[in-house]
Amino acid sequence: MQSKGYAVLEASKPLVPFTFTRRELRPADVAVAIEYAGICHSDIHQAREEWGPAIFPMVPGHEIAGVVSAIGSAVTKFKVGDRIGVGVFIDSCRECSSCKAGLEQYCTQGMTGTYNGYERDGKTVAQGGYSDNFVVDQDYAVKIPSNLDMAGVAPLLCAGITLYSPLKNWGAGKGKKVGVIGLGGLGHMGLKFSAALGAHTTVFSHSPSKEKDARAMGADDFVVTKDLDTLAKLPKDFDLILNTVSADMDLTPFVDLLQLDGTLVLIGLPGKPYEINTPSLLGQRRSISGSMIGGIAETQEMLDFCGKHNILSEVEVIEPGYINEAYERTVKSDVKYRFVIDTKKF
Ligand code: NAP
Ligand code: ZN
Ligand code: ZN
Repeated sequence: MQSKGYAVLEASKPLVPFTFTRRELRPADVAVAIEYAGICHSDIHQAREEWGPAIFPMVPGHEIAGVVSAIGSAVTKFKVGDRIGVGVFIDSCRECSSCKAGLEQYCTQGMTGTYNGYERDGKTVAQGGYSDNFVVDQDYAVKIPSNLDMAGVAPLLCAGITLYSPLKNWGAGKGKKVGVIGLGGLGHMGLKFSAALGAHTTVFSHSPSKEKDARAMGADDFVVTKDLDTLAKLPKDFDLILNTVSADMDLTPFVDLLQLDGTLVLIGLPGKPYEINTPSLLGQRRSISGSMIGGIAETQEMLDFCGKHNILSEVEVIEPGYINEAYERTVKSDVKYRFVIDTKKF
């Protein structure tokens, strides 16, 4: 299948128009006419090899919202015309305990990434969603509720599920105090979900100008993190803090805000390891954990939750020619709150 999109040809080089082919439909595959693709900070980390060697040419994009344009002979889950979403992975071993538990993202054989990796045949390079079409196995795609705007849905496929999953796993809800560090693409979805689940939600941000938006999205408190003394004076009563910051930072002042048995969940993925002050963990039996996206069933649950509560990502819709500028602005935390490419313009 012929595809048109944008690709990175060499690490850290600007993205350029790119044509390529995708596989013909296998019996369980669906073809997708992509409508919108979100720009995740993980796209930028990989395009710039901030996580180690990458595969080029690379068509990034793992926040994909589109419409089914064709189906393979064995497809039962979708029909032509259905609204469909694809996220960060497109396959997994399907046999290990994680896969069987619906936690395909933690597949012990390794999930198959949507791009910057090989498909399960070990040789076909997977190419992502900054393009006009896509081919995916029906088991690795989800249905988009009919009431939701497609541009605002695309970021839910990564940013949305990545924050929904830890909020559910650690029991965020009424009577719980949740903190979200960083009000970017991931962080603003964490804020919306935490508020919708009924938790008292505090945003920690290094951008004072984002306070008004944060409150409009449901924040009970907004704390500017530039001055660490401000953090030190806050009550140490958080149950859960989700760190979505994409850059290196000092975690200890945030660990110190957790109450007994509270958890700081690492979600942001800067290329460098963190340091942590051990007594901050011992003192109140606090934990540091991590969380990575979510499984297919939970992604569907998240989208249905969004449909019910009318939750969408705040997006700036852009044309393909603006992708490189969007990358620069994302790195400067200058996006409200996710860039989404109108892929119908490729
Ligand atoms: P993003 O839109 O760029 O948001 C990151 C936010 O972090 C910024 O908006 C900013 O918020 C804050 N920030 C950035 N630089 C900072 C600095 N130098 N000091 C303090 N705060 C800073 O990125 P994203 O797409 O949300 O992704 C965030 C991170 O999560 C990335 O590292 C990405 O790779 C990772 N990620 C992880 C998963 C997973 O499964 N765990 C999934 C997707 C992405 P303020 O302006 O409010 O401070
Ligand atoms: Zn992502
Ligand atoms: Zn598996």
